Amino acid sequence: MANKRDYYEVLGVSKDATEQEIKSAFRKLAKKYHPDLNKDDPDASEKFKEAQEAYEVLSDENKRSQYDRFGHAGVSGGASGMGGFSSYGGFDGVDIDLGDIFDSFFGGGFSGFGSRTKGGARKQRGDDFLKKVNLTFEEAVFGCEKDFELDFIEDCEVCDGNGGIGEKTCSTCHGSGTITSEQHTILGSFLSKSTCPDCKGTGHTYEKKCNACNGKGKVKTHKTITVNIPSGTDTGKRLKITGKGGAGINGGPNGDLYLEFYVEEHEYFKRDGNDIYLEIPLTITEATLGCKKTIPTLYGNVTLNIPSGINNLDKQRIKGKGINNGNMYLIFKVLTPRRLTKEQKKLFEALSKTDLEDKEIKDFMRFTSKNEK
Ligand SMILES: [Zn+2]
Ligand SMILES: [Zn+2]
Repeated sequence: MANKRDYYEVLGVSKDATEQEIKSAFRKLAKKYHPDLNKDDPDASEKFKEAQEAYEVLSDENKRSQYDRFGHAGVSGGASGMGGFSSYGGFDGVDIDLGDIFDSFFGGGFSGFGSRTKGGARKQRGDDFLKKVNLTFEEAVFGCEKDFELDFIEDCEVCDGNGGIGEKTCSTCHGSGTITSEQHTILGSFLSKSTCPDCKGTGHTYEKKCNACNGKGKVKTHKTITVNIPSGTDTGKRLKITGKGGAGINGGPNGDLYLEFYVEEHEYFKRDGNDIYLEIPLTITEATLGCKKTIPTLYGNVTLNIPSGINNLDKQRIKGKGINNGNMYLIFKVLTPRRLTKEQKKLFEALSKTDLEDKEIKDFMRFTSKNEK
């Protein structure tokens, strides 16, 4: 759409043209360039579209004033009116329902099209649905199967979704799917092709209507479906169940169902994706001297040698004990006793007379004495 022509120029009217002048200018152009009426000019369809877009804007008081002030930029959204035309199959084909087009442009003034059939209504995909699902920590970690009772629309099994049984060629259109009729309008007479109303453009009909679905090809079902929820599912993750969403319209496919998960927290295990964190409380002597500890993991208990000299919040990795080969991390929490027996107190006092300080403590003491005022 680069270098768009000025809309007034397109319609061949002056800037102060009246509504009536604009309408009549567009009618003239529509008659000249409509692809059904003009088969000689290869650019006809382009010119028709251009005229149509100009008319869309200039025939609308608001859009016209926007256009007058800001040019094409002011109505770039205004060309949205064009979007409506995609439903008529575009202009490169001949499958255009002129009645619809002119009705929408001239407010139904073309009542001569009373017998028109809208043809095959556009297929529309059904809506997607979202369902929230709560999982326990274990269900999410290891994966699980869950049953869901769902109501949805599916293809009728009796007629395979056709709505009828015993396929035969449509006698109305003889299998072509379209019918040609002569239209008499104030623009003149012309041949118009439209979708066959009896077979909706498919070219075939059926010996008899399917009773199971009353000819609709779709049935409402209530089914329990079993969903395999993969291991490692986490809060906020979604799983798509294809075709179990809202029903499609006019033969369009169903939407999808999305399951969105909420995972309960575990009292001890914390998750970060596929990694598991576990806090391990140690007494001051266990941390100092090292110890043997029984560690709970997702896959049962393991016994580990904890080395000596553990500080608070030190971390140790256990490879592969997370989810789906993720890791497990032990976070040590060194607990200083709040109450001591007399004997314990004596031992600590004896210990305090020994030189326990390490480099960090000595450095800090040096800083303290330098800071003396
Ligand atoms: Zn037909
Ligand atoms: Zn059926």
